[in-house]
Amino acid sequence: MEKLVAVKGMNDILPPDSARWEALEDKVRSLMQRFAYENVRTPIVEPTALFVRGLGEVTDIVEKEMYSFEDRLNGEQLTLRPENTAGVVRAAIEHSLLYNGGKRLYYMGPMFRHERPQRGRYRQFHQIGAEALGFSGGEVDAELILMASALWKELGLDDVALQLNSLGQPEERNQHRAALIAHFEAHHDALDEEAKRRLHLNPLRLLDSKNPAMQPVIEAAPRLLDFLGEASRRHLQSVTDVLDANGVAYTINPRLVRGMDYYNLTVFEFVTTRLGSQGTICAGGRYDYLFEQVGGKPTPAVGWAIGIERVLELLKEQGALPVAPAVDAYAVVPDVASLPAVMACLQTLRASGTSVLMHASTAEGMASMKSQFKRADASGARFALVFGADEMAQGQVTVKALRDASIPQQTLALPEAAQWAKSLQSTA
Ligand code: ATP
Ligand code: MG
Repeated sequence: MEKLVAVKGMNDILPPDSARWEALEDKVRSLMQRFAYENVRTPIVEPTALFVRGLGEVTDIVEKEMYSFEDRLNGEQLTLRPENTAGVVRAAIEHSLLYNGGKRLYYMGPMFRHERPQRGRYRQFHQIGAEALGFSGGEVDAELILMASALWKELGLDDVALQLNSLGQPEERNQHRAALIAHFEAHHDALDEEAKRRLHLNPLRLLDSKNPAMQPVIEAAPRLLDFLGEASRRHLQSVTDVLDANGVAYTINPRLVRGMDYYNLTVFEFVTTRLGSQGTICAGGRYDYLFEQVGGKPTPAVGWAIGIERVLELLKEQGALPVAPAVDAYAVVPDVASLPAVMACLQTLRASGTSVLMHASTAEGMASMKSQFKRADASGARFALVFGADEMAQGQVTVKALRDASIPQQTLALPEAAQWAKSLQSTA
């Protein structure tokens, strides 16, 4: 039979790597809890219209990156979510989540974009996202930035720089848009085909172009920052005031625009130089018009998303990968007949928090004690629990340290073993 392999650009996450994912996820859960962000889980498949209306038709994602398909059974137009802000907003509207005021939410999970696979860019990738819904003040933009900064610190990541910009409000963008179109029309010959096509549809997108040949004309383009009115400038100031008070460094990058149409006012990215051209590990901003765009009441909101693969890659670059704890104990079992009694004991130990890996039988029965001890050593466990025939007869278990010769071997009555297991937690 032909061997089946994973879809291009979609990765299996296997042990021991998966343990690093879990360690990162644990840190994120703890962080979210301390900032009082609550978990939200929305479907991976959404109506295609949600993204077309939410993200905007003339965006990379909607134009060419979505996995969209028709449900064969009922003809519905569906899409594997390319991001999850639109989904969270849809859920908030559908379930009147903001009935009693704002909500701070977070999620972790897979996203899908049909991009060219390369380092740090996959077709199924994973994001951690935080969304603060129903808040208009710049202090919440700042809170989200502080939360991401705290995560870098707790992960031991340095070399992550914050870039900040304001996209202002629609009226300000309209004025800027007219100036942009005039500028790019005056330099029409310098534009590539995509830029020419987008010039009148979505000229702001041109600033996002990575085409090196277009950089000079982009560099010379009118800056949205110069079109901001008093209120927009004050909003930006309210964000930077908090960042300054917290010693969070940033640069204002007037050319920072984001990949979706839904942003206004604050936009930001955390960027590292260590991952080549895929250096953005977190991106976000304010999206006060998205709720209306997908059929809700006007609701201010702000959020960010972190690319998990890129963060783990950066941790690897810096040699600061989170590691999973090894198992506490390896259970050495004399024979198949003693398994029920052994497993009853292991249940108690595990209930006390000990992680135990048990030697399993094969078609030939249980392996020799010698080969079980070899396995125990190789497992990385700190202790072997030896359920020898003599011990079993006495209702006892022998606890043997595998890594630390100074710990004496001891034989415990099975009830005492639970005590021993508890004491282990404090010495781990
Ligand atoms: P980029 O400019 O790198 O294409 P983007 O603006 O499309 O990023 P967002 O949609 O804002 O990215 O997603 C937030 C984060 O998710 C990115 O900063 C990045 O870390 C990660 N990310 C986005 N697309 C991918 C992908 N295809 N593979 C891996 N990570 C991704
Ligand atoms: Mg992209």
